[in-house]
Amino acid sequence: MKENGRQCLPLKTSVIYGPVHSRRLGESLGINLSPTGRKICSFNCVYCHYGWSAVVVHNSSQYENEFADPDEVYRSLEEFLKENQPPDYITFSGNGEPTTHPQFDNIVSEVVKIRDRLVPDIKITILSNSTTSGNPRISDALRKLDLRFMKLDCGDERTFLRFNRPAAGITLSGIINDLASMNMPIVVQTLMADGAGGNFNDRNLICYIEAISRIKPESVQLYSLDRPTPDGSLRSLSKEQLGSIAEIIVAETEVEIEIFGRRPQIAES
Ligand code: SF4
Repeated sequence: MKENGRQCLPLKTSVIYGPVHSRRLGESLGINLSPTGRKICSFNCVYCHYGWSAVVVHNSSQYENEFADPDEVYRSLEEFLKENQPPDYITFSGNGEPTTHPQFDNIVSEVVKIRDRLVPDIKITILSNSTTSGNPRISDALRKLDLRFMKLDCGDERTFLRFNRPAAGITLSGIINDLASMNMPIVVQTLMADGAGGNFNDRNLICYIEAISRIKPESVQLYSLDRPTPDGSLRSLSKEQLGSIAEIIVAETEVEIEIFGRRPQIAES
């Protein structure tokens, strides 16, 4: 997929994909609950490696028949687990925000049952953009998972609107309140990028640190751009720059931070 002349990743074409080698999770078998034909997400992040979102919505019920068929999810997962070496993790991720699937809660319950029956030692995780965590139906489902990676890239509302480009009605203050009220261990994942469209600015960092102090996550994973992005103005931060940011965050919040620098073998065009 070309975005402004920059090569973004093609959308996943199936409900089960990988295992992929993840910077965070090792060998991770992905479950893609999102549509395979176009990206529908509650965000339209300037760095999304799938390119710009075709549809940016908070409530995706009107697109229900484009989302993964739950029976196909169960069938494909069982088939994979019966025929292959178990992965390190099973992860809800894919082409958009997994929790926007209209039947997300039922799917989580069934996937947990399949895991318990076939590969009880494998952990189930999610990469979520945090926009639905205030919904009790979603947070009850998230609680059934072993690990929850929740996105928070910004602390400042203006930077958030420009960087994550949310659907109408989604506010950063709402997301921070919801994350602070989740009442279960979470890992916050944060991407920091420099450049005109980036989120690397003093005001954003100060507000972000305040947000982390309120949320009190188990840890923060701070990472840099690793792939071409739809917004061509973004620039990667070096591992040393991320290290300096991490030092400030740790000093202010005492939250543990893990840094994921850019993989050297992937060149940005
Ligand atoms: S939340 Fe994830 S899938 Fe959605 S636009 Fe942002 S990076 Fe892409």
